[in-house]
Amino acid sequence: MSATHHWNGILPSALEAVGNTPLIALDRLKQSEEWQGINCRILAKVEFFSAGGSVKDRIAKRMVERAETDGRLKPGYSVIIEPTSGNTGIGLALVSALKGYRCIIVMPEKMSREKEATIRALGADVVRTPTEAGWDSEESHIGVAKKLRDSIPGGIILDQYANENNPLAHYHGTYQEIKHSLETSDLKCKRISALVAGAGTGGTITGLSKALRDDQAQQASSKVGANGSNGQEAEEAKAVVVAVDPVGSLLGGGQVGPYQVEGIGYDFVPEVLDPNKPNIDCWIKTTDDEAFAMAHKVIRTEGLLIGGSSGAALAGTLKFLRDSPAGQAIAKNEDANVVVVLPDGIRNYISKEWFLEGALRAPTSNLTHEIAHV
Ligand code: PMP
Repeated sequence: MSATHHWNGILPSALEAVGNTPLIALDRLKQSEEWQGINCRILAKVEFFSAGGSVKDRIAKRMVERAETDGRLKPGYSVIIEPTSGNTGIGLALVSALKGYRCIIVMPEKMSREKEATIRALGADVVRTPTEAGWDSEESHIGVAKKLRDSIPGGIILDQYANENNPLAHYHGTYQEIKHSLETSDLKCKRISALVAGAGTGGTITGLSKALRDDQAQQASSKVGANGSNGQEAEEAKAVVVAVDPVGSLLGGGQVGPYQVEGIGYDFVPEVLDPNKPNIDCWIKTTDDEAFAMAHKVIRTEGLLIGGSSGAALAGTLKFLRDSPAGQAIAKNEDANVVVVLPDGIRNYISKEWFLEGALRAPTSNLTHEIAHV
């Protein structure tokens, strides 16, 4: 089935409801004071609409199906073991439930109970590891997953940190979906001016940026061929790729330290995040406070139930558009399209203090007054 299959007729299973998420214009957010002067379009790729609720469903499906094809995964025998911040775990547990694999997910303590409950509800096991354990220590989620693999017959780690099918799922899937959404829209300008995504394994930003570069290079060369112009247009067409990274992660530079936002940032550079990062133009650092305030704001203004790393992606987008020369030029242009990946939804974080604090705020003074008179 093509990556850009859309919802026609009856789907044979939830596996076909992986991906194919909508691209939504955040026009209401832009009207708020904080976004004043940002005139470009902000187009959100809203990933909680996927079957398992996140951007990681596509890679879970692709990693399993490719491992089945090449014979590494054997139905009825293999046990899928994976270290993850949780969303790849949900995706793998979902695929395992449908295909009949035993699945064991290893994740750090800091990751939400909602993710653990979802994985367990899908029939997989969950092992927790200390959040502060360094990635290369025996106690880390990666270290424990390796130990489990070595001791459980049939144990296999598909390894999202190194598996080429992680970025390829976004190259062939997520990017093609974005392109399809733009091409079937009524926008005059369908070109992507900037692409923004957070980095955890780096699979999303690596796959998307490579697909974008290849696509725009191809468009530019067909233009050169068509009208005989030089490569100048190709240069003009070059979109800016922005990676967002939390303060406390080393991916985008800076000191390693604690932070609450889940799914982005690491204390090592994963193999799938190309070490030379040729396709990433800039890294933007965000704090927990910025990320969580933005998530609350988008939920309230756009009615989109996004999670913390989505808030970070949008806080990073705003900083890019305000603070960098490249961003400022894009922000001025009403026809410019800035595509931002929003990786998961708030249902993954309902019990987290950062969410409850904002959501369960005391009623407005008006309501307090009204209730007193009931
Ligand atoms: N946000 C969340 C909530 C995630 O679970 C992940 C996956 N770790 C990401 C962002 C980053 O995605 P990637 O691993 O493709 O960089």
